[in-house]
Amino acid sequence: MSENKTKRRRPHAVCIPYPAQGHIGPMLKLAKLLHSSPHNFHISFVNTHHNHRRLQRAHGSAAVSGLPSFRFHVIPDGLPPADNPDATQDIASLCISINETCPNALRDLLSELNSVAGAGDGPGPVSCVVADAGMWFAVDVAEEFGVPAVRFWTASACALLGYAQYESLVQKGVIPLPDSSCLTNGYLDKVVEGIPSMEGITLKHPPSFIRTTDANDFMLNYLRRCVQTVSESRCPLIFNTFEALEGPILQTLATAKITNTPDLTIGPLSFLLPKTNTENHSTIRSSLLPEDPSCLSWLDSKPPDSVIYVSFGSVATLTPHQVIEFACGLVNSEQNFLWVIRPDLVGTSELGSGAVARQLVGGAQGRGMLASWCDQEMVLAHPAVGGFLTHCGWNSTIEAIGNGVAVVCWPFFADQQTNSWFCCEKWGAGVEIGGGGEVRREEVERVARTVVDGDKGKEMRWKAREWKRLAEEASLSPNGSSYINFKKLVDHLLGSLN
Ligand code: UDP
Repeated sequence: MSENKTKRRRPHAVCIPYPAQGHIGPMLKLAKLLHSSPHNFHISFVNTHHNHRRLQRAHGSAAVSGLPSFRFHVIPDGLPPADNPDATQDIASLCISINETCPNALRDLLSELNSVAGAGDGPGPVSCVVADAGMWFAVDVAEEFGVPAVRFWTASACALLGYAQYESLVQKGVIPLPDSSCLTNGYLDKVVEGIPSMEGITLKHPPSFIRTTDANDFMLNYLRRCVQTVSESRCPLIFNTFEALEGPILQTLATAKITNTPDLTIGPLSFLLPKTNTENHSTIRSSLLPEDPSCLSWLDSKPPDSVIYVSFGSVATLTPHQVIEFACGLVNSEQNFLWVIRPDLVGTSELGSGAVARQLVGGAQGRGMLASWCDQEMVLAHPAVGGFLTHCGWNSTIEAIGNGVAVVCWPFFADQQTNSWFCCEKWGAGVEIGGGGEVRREEVERVARTVVDGDKGKEMRWKAREWKRLAEEASLSPNGSSYINFKKLVDHLLGSLN
């Protein structure tokens, strides 16, 4: 429904993502869904100053001016201005500072939104809050304002199950790891018995933060706190996943009382968004870096399933040595590849971001393209793309599966090892390479050939396409689980208005 057709007061949702790319993306999709739903939610989307500026630099001011009924608001993250305004912020520092700075900033914002509510054509008072599970304080703020809230766990359900194993692994005496040599001496090859839904998993694959030598590690305890708030939560928990894929894991989470409220799978979120967008959402973008549109025209020139797309998400960094090994492996494979090298992918290397890769890829004779960022979902949906060499962040994993693309997993940290294990061992759509951060050009070459040309690649694509079909069924059919769960979510958010 267009802006001026709406006469009745819209429900007013405040959406607050954790301030990083992998969280802003899914939260924006959810906000667009609420905005275009039959209830026409008014959206107040909350970014930090740092990310607001990045969006503006990447897409121009239209990206942050929003629409009359879809507004962006900014709060501080508490960190000093970054040396490189286009670089991903340090996650641990961000976790510390947002918890100190954002609760009061959010309180002030809600008060301000309520104080101007109802003026002219403006929105009514805030009627609900959608909070990233990493921004747990936002649910407390919603309670103070007497409005319903939901928590959005933007990672996978299997990641939540993995994080929740910390106490039991401590009781089993396997973690904290005795010392850091355990990371490389085979200790992690031990199978961990007794985790439901994770039978056969080794110590390599629970989330990295719990595989630590230090029980006081900050990120470990931040994630433990996230799990605890989820477990004690009184409001629904939503996941960007779908029943057919992670239903058994959600069941395990509920049985083990790791979650204690209805879990709502509402993914893949991009499938639920209306194909014809009457709300003019096209100016509202989530990429914090400008996307290179020539990736898509380059893909147009390639045959179906012939390209391996390579990207390690928005946070992970590579060493110059790793860049060289990947570049040589890809070039030597003689396959087509499109590789995203973010400006900050190679840290502060004197070699410069991607300079060496660019030189090496020059020898690929039109088979290789480098980009500094792209519209990944468009790339994965392109018929030329048959494989995805990824770090297995959850968004990348579900975007690959949702587009029927075979996955080559090279996980770095956090939940990526767990997503990789499920993708390879349980979902049949992936194969993992490397380990412990090591990468060898011969292995990259072999796997690039396999995924594009080999039987294993075809088998993984076949499996991924079956998941794509099930994802479509879950989100597009009125009887689909994600479709139904989205309606339940809306009902909950409308609670204070009914
Ligand atoms: N992404 C993108 N363009 C790129 C690389 C990544 O749009 O060139 C998006 C990708 O579609 C995904 C997000 O960035 O939605 C990365 O999230 P993910 O959870 O995979 O990894 P993270 O960045 O959190 O490690």
